[in-house]
Amino acid sequence: MSDKVYMVSNPPTPNKVVEFNPDICNGCNLCVEVCPTDVMMSNPEKKKPPIVLYAEECWYCGGCVEECPRPGAIKMVFPTSQNISVNWKRKDTGEYFRLGMKNPPPPNTRPPSG
Ligand code: SF4
Ligand code: SF4
Repeated sequence: MSDKVYMVSNPPTPNKVVEFNPDICNGCNLCVEVCPTDVMMSNPEKKKPPIVLYAEECWYCGGCVEECPRPGAIKMVFPTSQNISVNWKRKDTGEYFRLGMKNPPPPNTRPPSG
């Protein structure tokens, strides 16, 4: 067995929470320092983007993006439920709809059973 120990993101929460553009980020680590919950760690390789270690700790406060001196180096990756159109399916008719869609089907007026 290898003696090496690797730090990896927590597997149950593989969300990226933030994404770096390695062409713009210069690894200054300001975002690492301002993060209130220590989501990221600095990259052991100098001038490389930080590493997201504890994605599940992110508050989505946006502090890291706001404080970054290099626009475009880091952006938020919001949870799936907030950044894609979630489709809902009406059980009785089988129709799909989205919250906020332009022509939503009429509301379900059927009284709850039971
Ligand atoms: S959004 Fe806030 S909590 Fe999440 S990584 Fe950035 S600074 Fe940390
Ligand atoms: S994302 Fe911005 S603040 Fe964070 S290390 Fe890169 S350049 Fe610095």
